[in-house]
Amino acid sequence: MAYSYDDQNIFAKILRGEIPNDTVLETEHSLAFRDIRPQAPTHVLVIPKGAYVCYDDFALNASDAEILDYTRAIGKVCEMEGVAANGFRLISNAGEEGVQEVPHLHVHILAGRSLGRMLERG
Ligand code: 5GP
Repeated sequence: MAYSYDDQNIFAKILRGEIPNDTVLETEHSLAFRDIRPQAPTHVLVIPKGAYVCYDDFALNASDAEILDYTRAIGKVCEMEGVAANGFRLISNAGEEGVQEVPHLHVHILAGRSLGRMLERG
């Protein structure tokens, strides 16, 4: 699927410095910051700096350097936040049925409490 990227989305504004964020890590191609409405004691969003709508867009179209940087940034944030000790969850929502609110790729790193089953029918 060919995605069209809306450069007025909130994470694009964060990347342009138009909106403040609580940065956890910045690398050449990625930015990690705390979610404004945390769902767990640790709730960090990791985004690529490039204009990718969601995970499959990124995985299919990003450069090797971007993919390497982004994947390592996620690992580094996990390490920095110490989430491996008791477990954590990575989530990346996409599109309407995936209930993606912000149309710029992000993974949620959630930890610090029991997160329950992954999905409940609703
Ligand atoms: P989605 O539903 O798209 O997977 O998740 C979007 C996430 O972005 C939500 O968890 C929401 O709380 C977070 N969010 C929305 N606006 C902002 C913002 O301006 N700053 C930060 N740090 N997080 C935001």
